[in-house]
Amino acid sequence: MLTRQPILQNFRRAFSSSCRREKQRLVILGSGWGGYEILRGVDKKRWDVVLVSPNNYFNFTPLLASCAVGTLEFRCAIEPVRRYSPAAGIYQAWCDRIDFRNKTLQCMPATKPSHVASPSDTTYDHQISTTSPGSGLKFPLKYDKLVIAVGAYSQTFSIPGVKEHAHFLKDVRDARAIRSRILECFEQANQPTLSDTERRHLLNFVIVGAGPTGVEFAAEFHDLLHAEIWEHYPSLAKMARINLYDVAPSILGMFDSNLVQYAEKNFRREGISIWTSHHVDKVEAGKIYIKEQGEVPYGLLVWSTGLSPNPLVASITELKKHPKTQSIITDDHLNTLRTDGTPDPDVYVIGDAASLASAPLPATAQVANQQAKYLYKRLNKIIRDRTHEKPFEFHNQGTLAYVGNWKAIYDRPDEGGLPGLNKEKGRLAWLLWRSAYFTQTLSIRNKILVPFYWFLNCKFWFFDWIFGRDLTRF
Ligand SMILES: Cc1cc2nc3c(=O)[nH]c(=O)nc-3n(C[C@H](O)[C@H](O)[C@H](O)COP(=O)(O)OP(=O)(O)OC[C@H]3O[C@@H](n4cnc5c(N)ncnc54)[C@H](O)[C@@H]3O)c2cc1C
Repeated sequence: MLTRQPILQNFRRAFSSSCRREKQRLVILGSGWGGYEILRGVDKKRWDVVLVSPNNYFNFTPLLASCAVGTLEFRCAIEPVRRYSPAAGIYQAWCDRIDFRNKTLQCMPATKPSHVASPSDTTYDHQISTTSPGSGLKFPLKYDKLVIAVGAYSQTFSIPGVKEHAHFLKDVRDARAIRSRILECFEQANQPTLSDTERRHLLNFVIVGAGPTGVEFAAEFHDLLHAEIWEHYPSLAKMARINLYDVAPSILGMFDSNLVQYAEKNFRREGISIWTSHHVDKVEAGKIYIKEQGEVPYGLLVWSTGLSPNPLVASITELKKHPKTQSIITDDHLNTLRTDGTPDPDVYVIGDAASLASAPLPATAQVANQQAKYLYKRLNKIIRDRTHEKPFEFHNQGTLAYVGNWKAIYDRPDEGGLPGLNKEKGRLAWLLWRSAYFTQTLSIRNKILVPFYWFLNCKFWFFDWIFGRDLTRF
């Protein structure tokens, strides 16, 4: 009985792969908000689905700031892509090059060669080049239809030292590195050999970029500082400072001005320093040079100043690109446009890597997710020989941002969004913020884990008796 089982499985696998051959192959590049949703929704009985992504998980990005400060555990912000194998083929690899004429991809394993030890957290670099040498043998992959959902990288504006010294917040591994560095700063500052000036330098926390990601990280970090850090490092907590920098004249540019004022007032009251209309000249280890302030020492620098094109997207010359963002332009059906302006019927692009020709949309999870839903429905209809001519339409559900101390802001457009709610702030918006992320959390496991950790780790008001965030560093 024991020996028969694998034979049966192998037979089934061989049989199903021969069935696969007859199916058209759909290759999805990327397992983020766009790629993962296509993987979930596309009909795997009708398409031979192959996913290529350097991560074997999906990142629930809105929860990364909470993970970085320990409000949530890292597992809460990821979903495994292998949940969908063997119905879909999955390669943990980078796509390096696309040959549109021969419909072939060149891929590079994102795993180390077998004789090299598995990568440790410290070797991870999300800005890694897609042509990084020595990560294994490249392999070709044919496609009939291709979905490019590779997202974008963090924008550094080529400011010297940013790539080398700043922390980014794009991936769960970034969140882990940030959490570890915060705790390291406090443990270092606690050493008896340091002077108070050295302690203050280490406990000066700098965030560059006051969009939703930078603001939410500042807010979450403030909560950590005023709860567990105050309890465990009382004298050091008094020395700690959070500084938020941006070149723009105000924070959260895309929000209604009243909501922005509310967020700014809240931050100032809670002791978060906002430095708008400030420009970073260069970054060194432990020092950032601000045009308006000169040298500013820091213990942790978090960089979140928008997006730059993914190297794969940058390497593509056969498709039309947006002149400013360099993202790939699509028609209303999310097909890419060749340089002569004709749509490529077999290549689609969605999410942060895409720009809709008729109306460019913001680079958000909401857009990537809606585009993915539209596209898998379209692909499922194509395979059933039914045309799907309806163009993609974006339905704006509104934007939320956490501003700390159990308060948030919610801005929705005049049409769409949640009925009866428009521009909200404070506790009600915070409730919307938490319910929105709870609702969007995908697996049952995370639907249990997320509220469990919210409850377990909260330390606020009369909830002081609950455990609080874990401050161990390992
Ligand atoms: C911290 C943070 C918080 C955010 N919060 C919100 C929010 O609250 N609401 C909101 O709407 N948006 C939010 N966003 C923005 C949102 O996450 C992005 O707009 C969204 O992830 C874009 O989806 P995507 O599929 O285009 O790209 P991504 O989700 O970035 O996925 C790209 C995928 O492609 C893979 N990839 C990269 N290069 C290659 C390659 N060469 N070959 C194969 N695969 C490749 C990556 O590993 C990744 O799996 C947030 C972003 C961050 C960083």
